[in-house]
Amino acid sequence: MSVSVMLFTSDLRVHDQPALAAAVRDGDAVVPLFVLDAGIHRAGFDAPNRRAFLADSLASLDRGLRERGGRLVVRSGAVVDEVCRVVAATGARSVHVAAGVSRYATRREDALRSALTAAGAALHVHDGVVTALPPGRVTPADRDHFAVFTPYFRRWEAAGTRPVVTAPRRITVPDTAGEPLPARSSVSGVSPGLAAGGEEEGRRRLTAWLARPASGVDSYAERHDDLAGDATSRLSPHLHFGTLSPVELVRRARDKGGPGAEAFVRQLAWRDFHHQVLAARPDAAAADYRSRGDRWRDDPKEIDAWREGRTGCPVVDAGMRQLRHEGWMHNRARLLTASYLAKTLYADWRTGAAHFLDLLVDGDMANNQLNWQWVAGTGTDTRPNRILNPLTQARRFDPDGEYVRRWVPELAGVPGRAVHDPAALPAAERARLDYPDPLVDLTAARDRFTEARGLNR
Ligand code: FAD
Repeated sequence: MSVSVMLFTSDLRVHDQPALAAAVRDGDAVVPLFVLDAGIHRAGFDAPNRRAFLADSLASLDRGLRERGGRLVVRSGAVVDEVCRVVAATGARSVHVAAGVSRYATRREDALRSALTAAGAALHVHDGVVTALPPGRVTPADRDHFAVFTPYFRRWEAAGTRPVVTAPRRITVPDTAGEPLPARSSVSGVSPGLAAGGEEEGRRRLTAWLARPASGVDSYAERHDDLAGDATSRLSPHLHFGTLSPVELVRRARDKGGPGAEAFVRQLAWRDFHHQVLAARPDAAAADYRSRGDRWRDDPKEIDAWREGRTGCPVVDAGMRQLRHEGWMHNRARLLTASYLAKTLYADWRTGAAHFLDLLVDGDMANNQLNWQWVAGTGTDTRPNRILNPLTQARRFDPDGEYVRRWVPELAGVPGRAVHDPAALPAAERARLDYPDPLVDLTAARDRFTEARGLNR
């Protein structure tokens, strides 16, 4: 009996899963393997919210495999060692894995390739599993990746996507030792409002999102920035863990059609864009993509106030509290809370990115680090010195103050738009609120930033 191994990483699904389909074709039996990676744990990348979502997703993947006659084999340890042990125990001749883009993923691939070659087995790395278009599939004439989104998007759209792969009908798993699946209930420190994970949940959410009348894909073009409306898909954790396929998402949205679906697909291309930047420049996870010579300020009190949602700037505090409560934040709130840290407080974007990674269930090297760089002006934004004024942003994207009142209950009694600027309330009213004064004056902070970037010279 010929055996292959399917090593799951960020692709925890059975639908539209080219790597799994290839592993099933490749052998009479396949070991669907997930390794709880000691290296990721040591790096601190398995924050509680992502561990909880992972536990849901592994349970769901196991169910999906069992429906096809198989099961998930879970082991913990060093990935390369565990894969080699499974290969030795089952006599597998090949291992299939999805291509990753981070330095961690590519190093893992290299280490696996050499260990498997030594063991007489082959490694097959599959593109188009984690992103809709593989990094490097489209490039400008003169370099290995696009540094600007719009020209990338034109080429991305023209390139199209591969066809959707049907889920295997039958999976035979040889006798292989594994461990019990991790349980969500054993993870502590999880955000109380964290969403459920897993492929079934991802597929249910996607179908609901495509059909929902007032806040689904059809209204996405007009409503995606509406902070209180919550009219985005919330599919990002499913894309991060691969419980949904980006290719299937693009195809199903395009089949639906209309301006909302087009705007949604464009956002999915942003995801691919950041992945192709990180694949070409893995150092951009930690180093400035484009250095602006910043000498960041480091004021622990200010940074703590930002982390805790007590800056005295209500829309910023609302975003930071949503992050803590749900392990997720609306994109518009991510933009303005990040801009507040990196430009208004002029603190190092890495400090903010690390805090996001501690909490975000979709926390992702490509999307988090490169969006942070985009906002800080050290990344791919073609207008690197723009500053989002949180007050203007709040009035525009939370016109009735509903988002702020939802997340900052101290301000629940402040009527209308006054909620965005409690400092402007009469002194007696202000004194009654248990809410901090603004940490900084926005105009002074803007001047400090423009001075620091040398824009006044
Ligand atoms: P929707 O609006 O429904 O969009 C659909 C999908 O498109 C998203 O799920 C996501 O995969 C992709 N997408 C949307 N906007 C972006 C974008 N700007 N860049 C890349 N992909 C995008 N996204 C993450 O997935 N992980 C992160 O760690 C992350 N960190 C961020 C940090 C900052 C400072 C900022 C400004 C943005 C960050 N984003 C991140 C991008 C974006 O905010 C989230 O993808 C989005 O809010 C997820 O919600 P949604 O699924 O409802 O998005």
